[in-house]
Amino acid sequence: MKTPRLPIALQQAVMHSLRLHLQRAGSHLKQTFAEPTILYQQRGTTAGSAWLQQWEIRLNPVLLLENKQPFIDEVVPHELAHLLVWKQFGKVAPHGKEWKWMMETVLGVSARRTHRFSTDSLQKTFAYHCQCRQHLLTVRRHNRVLRGETRYRCTGCGGELLRGEYPQ
Ligand SMILES: [Zn+2]
Ligand SMILES: [Zn+2]
Repeated sequence: MKTPRLPIALQQAVMHSLRLHLQRAGSHLKQTFAEPTILYQQRGTTAGSAWLQQWEIRLNPVLLLENKQPFIDEVVPHELAHLLVWKQFGKVAPHGKEWKWMMETVLGVSARRTHRFSTDSLQKTFAYHCQCRQHLLTVRRHNRVLRGETRYRCTGCGGELLRGEYPQ
């Protein structure tokens, strides 16, 4: 899957949140932590994931684009806390007391285990039509059309797929 192009300002906001929370952890725990790598490669309906050995956070670019600031304020510290807990305590329960403590006491973020983002659009399909019939595009394909990355053609009539219902 091609990662959707994310506006630079959004990526900067992600990095800002990451550094802010990393700094909080640093001063609270009197340690310096290396900055984790952020990758915008999380697929499916998962908001983000923490890759402990890789010291990496993978974020879902579609959900980030749709939710922006709430995503940044919630998912970035959530995944960062997983990395920090692993560094401090080794392998423990993913959302156990260590993680809760890291979130609330160290990072100052309320510890919700799951994110509230709607993943509807990730399953949704979008109506398109050509000259001969109705087509349904997945959100991934629809987004690619919106971003002007590609155009889809009907394999039947060869016509370009246009947004909207096929006129009955
Ligand atoms: Zn988690
Ligand atoms: Zn057609």
